[in-house]
Amino acid sequence: MALEFHLTNYERYRTQGLEAYRGGDPRRAKFCLLKSAEHLFQMANLSEGRLRDVRSRRAGELLEMAQGLPASTSPRISKDERRGECDDAGDADGSRFEVAERPDVTFDDIAGLESVKEEVRLKIIYPFQHRETASRFGVHPGGGILLYGPPGTGKTLMARAIAGETECAFFTVKPSDILSKWVGEAEQNFESLFAAARAESPSIIFIDEIDALAPKREETQSSVMARLVPQILAELEGFSGSDAPILFVGATNEPWSLDSAILRPGRFDEKIYVGLPDAVARRRVLQIYLEDRPLADDIDLDVLTAKSSGFSGADLRNLCRRAADDAFLVSIATGQDQPITQCGMLRALSELNPSVDSASLARFESYREEN
Ligand code: ADP
Repeated sequence: MALEFHLTNYERYRTQGLEAYRGGDPRRAKFCLLKSAEHLFQMANLSEGRLRDVRSRRAGELLEMAQGLPASTSPRISKDERRGECDDAGDADGSRFEVAERPDVTFDDIAGLESVKEEVRLKIIYPFQHRETASRFGVHPGGGILLYGPPGTGKTLMARAIAGETECAFFTVKPSDILSKWVGEAEQNFESLFAAARAESPSIIFIDEIDALAPKREETQSSVMARLVPQILAELEGFSGSDAPILFVGATNEPWSLDSAILRPGRFDEKIYVGLPDAVARRRVLQIYLEDRPLADDIDLDVLTAKSSGFSGADLRNLCRRAADDAFLVSIATGQDQPITQCGMLRALSELNPSVDSASLARFESYREEN
């Protein structure tokens, strides 16, 4: 059934794409060829053995051909105008969302957050790494996870490490890449993003500040949001359990601003709190950011750890940078390398305050308890 659906669409888009190509319409050719490649990839995923290889290879060739065509330069057109072009309301201009290089960050680069890592391994990494076993047990890779917590606690780092730990293509997108004042363009951008991610499946889409894309609908006047939120919901539901797994990772510092529909089961199945580092994690962050710099013998990580309670990972990185900047300035002024000293670290510490205040921490704690 699914195979038949993909076969019909693959052939239809391929014919239309080639016709558009011959007829001198590269933009439309690109769209249709990307769609046909996407359906062929889906067929490959549903096949086995040699057939799977042949289909994957052909799909790759189609994708390459489509990517070689120039991206759209024509003015954006509304969704209604576009309907009828290809019987599919979407401009799958995959070039807009390039696959980022696989991040070389792994879990070892993240200090602490052990329970978060464990949860991510169980729910995400293992199902992606052991797909056959996962399918025997009815465990589906992909789906949506929401990382929430104060700024600078390593949510973005965690998303990059998930991609680094798996063999997944990684798409990182800012809401500003999606949002647009032009009618229909935000929806179109979102469709393009998913088309590109499907073509590269298994893949991870990471959207930072997801609250900007899916704010509470009752609190926004924006008609773009009124249309975009249901579309995000539909995409999230569409890919759970699909044969082309996509993991959708959203990060937010304001989970309470998110549209509640997006948090229901089947959408963001996992909501993971990424909090401030504890003492062990703070020590490790300090170590990570100091170890490659010239250090005096008197550096005492235990004291620095104890004195930096309440600091986020990003705050600790800034602390090390500040102390390094000072030592660097003295070094160039004196013409001799002056290592970072305990005194320099303590001075930098006294000049900085934790970026997360206790009121906002309390708000996260109560959100966590309620959700
Ligand atoms: P968030 O997405 O939560 O706002 P980021 O992941 O962008 O935070 O963190 C900013 C920077 O702070 C990271 O690039 C990293 O250098 C540092 N950092 C934050 N948390 C950690 C951590 N747990 N371990 C190591 N570095 C961290």
